[in-house]
Amino acid sequence: MSIPIADHVRDIPKSGIRDFFEIVQSMADVISLGIGEPDFVTPWHIREAAIYSLEKGRTGYTSNLGLPRLRRAISDTVQRATGVQYDPLREVLVSVGVSEAIDVALRAILNPGDEVLYHEPCYVSYSPSVALAFGTARAIPTRAEDHFSLRADALEAAVGPRTKAVMLNFPTNPTGATMDRAQIEAIAGVCIRHNLAVLTDEIYSELTYDDREHFSIVSVPGMKERTIYLHGLSKAYAMTGFRIGYACGPNSIIEAMMKIHQYSILCAPIMSQDAAVEALERGEPSMLRMRREYALRRNYVVSALNEMGLDCFMPRGAFYVFPKITSTGLTSQEFSLRLLHEKRVAVVPGTAFGASGEGHVRCSYATGLEQIKIAMQRIGEFCVELRADQQARTAA
Ligand code: PLP
Repeated sequence: MSIPIADHVRDIPKSGIRDFFEIVQSMADVISLGIGEPDFVTPWHIREAAIYSLEKGRTGYTSNLGLPRLRRAISDTVQRATGVQYDPLREVLVSVGVSEAIDVALRAILNPGDEVLYHEPCYVSYSPSVALAFGTARAIPTRAEDHFSLRADALEAAVGPRTKAVMLNFPTNPTGATMDRAQIEAIAGVCIRHNLAVLTDEIYSELTYDDREHFSIVSVPGMKERTIYLHGLSKAYAMTGFRIGYACGPNSIIEAMMKIHQYSILCAPIMSQDAAVEALERGEPSMLRMRREYALRRNYVVSALNEMGLDCFMPRGAFYVFPKITSTGLTSQEFSLRLLHEKRVAVVPGTAFGASGEGHVRCSYATGLEQIKIAMQRIGEFCVELRADQQARTAA
């Protein structure tokens, strides 16, 4: 007898990224622009805080909500970033990465069949996380012409009788899209008019460039009570392995999330929480150093891609670019597989982030500039060879 799998789990497709990276891992000499995690090692003073935590014998559980000192540091950080004050004792939950916070938030608010809208292309876990919480995920495609921002009219048109919540992620993985204040206010207007909850995943909010201030939807008057603000330390502080995220929201929501978190996770690891305190209290200069480096790489990648005829707008956030590859005559899957086999460069097919990602690939610039330069040279050669093939076929 084989153990039957629950229907809603069986029906979730495997992540396209995973299949692709299984191929990448089986190959030698590949330059990967595929990875969505910082190439920087966590800054030393933050690692030291984790080591010191172990040295002091801090090896037990913490409060389910997280260390009070960390929750105060989170509340101060969020207040500085958004102007919104969260009570560290009642309105903040420390989670195991933003991943857990997304899962717990959805499970806390969804009844079976409730619909969640999200803009696409988007982070691979949104739709499966909604399905795992017995909700219905509905994508709103965004367009390269709009630099992949979410239009308020598109959101308005997508709202239906079962819509309960909207998931936002600006700056966006995989496009690097950002939204300005007026655009966010328009989205907030739709959410208020239709009485929708908002889950805003702002994991890349520190990584915005060109002196562009990130503007959070929770800063719009009237939004705090309907918003679950999700953030974490993985990206901006290069702390993916520490697994620290957090959720801020109204006390009733945090209490509901706490029930799920308490019974499934108990608490985030204490030495990681100690490291997170160090990051939030004293890590800003380290974060800004990494951000300056990302900005230089982004400028290089965007101009290199445009020069080789792969249209790419200048994204103002995260560490991804999302060039259009339709001029090569290949689908995003074909382009990525052939580039990998013929030139040993890994990028992610845009379709891994939803059907509306077709015609694009995601390149991450969380890789050293020297590697990026070689990768760009190889992609340039690949495009020249593809065009020569196309011309030869047309001539024949
Ligand atoms: N949200 C987005 C948009 C991401 O891109 C990622 C990771 O790539 C996550 C959440 C997961 O982050 P964490 O490491 O905090 O679980």
